[in-house]
Amino acid sequence: MSSPIASRPIDLHTHSSVSDGTETPTQLVRAAVAAGLGTVGLTDHDSTAGWQEARGAARGTGLTVVPGMELSTNLGPASVHMLAYLFDPSNARIVAETARIRDGRLHRAERIVERIARDYDVTWDEVVAQSDGGVLGRPHIADALVAKGIVPNRSAAFESILHWQGGYYEKYYAPSPLEGVRMIVGAGGVPVLAHPATHGRWRVLDRDTIAELVDAGLAGLEVGHRDNTDDGRARLLELADEFDLVVTGSSDYHGAGKPNRLAENTTTPEALARIVERATGAAPFAD
Ligand code: AMP
Ligand code: FE
Ligand code: FE
Ligand code: ZN
Repeated sequence: MSSPIASRPIDLHTHSSVSDGTETPTQLVRAAVAAGLGTVGLTDHDSTAGWQEARGAARGTGLTVVPGMELSTNLGPASVHMLAYLFDPSNARIVAETARIRDGRLHRAERIVERIARDYDVTWDEVVAQSDGGVLGRPHIADALVAKGIVPNRSAAFESILHWQGGYYEKYYAPSPLEGVRMIVGAGGVPVLAHPATHGRWRVLDRDTIAELVDAGLAGLEVGHRDNTDDGRARLLELADEFDLVVTGSSDYHGAGKPNRLAENTTTPEALARIVERATGAAPFAD
């Protein structure tokens, strides 16, 4: 019989203020404990800077933290997010590549703000002030626009000024998904495609692309995610079956930055066990 602890919810995709979440890693861990989670994955964009703080905050609470990251990758014009679990955070290639991505994000955000500032009363300093020193992204530009009363909330900003077709958008440097998978596996980690079936994604992540990623070591697909379409989920389950991939479900919690709530989608203990078994770069923080 499984214990009540083993059956507590597992949520493997969350963001802290190290990237574009609104809560510090400590606050995020407290929110996870309060929500009754047994396990939380910390997956800030392109950064592992929150791992140690989250580990310290979780100590003695009974909450297990699965250290991870959401790696940015680019496939042609499309941005493809890849969850990376339990890799060695000191791996030289990961360290260098994520630094390059973060630097690209910073300069890209600066250029976006420069263009927005021609039409709206917002400055670069106001955007930086929203970031808490974390990985700069459009959510921080959104927060500055909200603070100035230009839009009511992040979502409204993304539907207008920050939309990729909104007239101010620009991409940022990121490796290809194949390079991403190789990099994560090379650091002893476990790659899982994040929300791979959001609206319109199927033109990009077709079966052959996924087959190629599986050959390189792709371990799983995040099927349970509010942004995946119903048709997309069904297709993902077929692909998971065909390639024997781990199926995960997660909230993509961003604190107050998004409506996503902790544990709104969850991962089974069996799926988590498969991820932990494959990992050689790090172990879950369960101390
Ligand atoms: P960026 O990485 O700078 O291109 O910004 C993309 C990030 O913005 C994603 O990681 C999402 O967390 C966030 N985001 C995208 N759409 C929305 C939205 N409608 N509301 C709030 N945050 C969003
Ligand atoms: Fe985000
Ligand atoms: Fe994402
Ligand atoms: Zn995310």
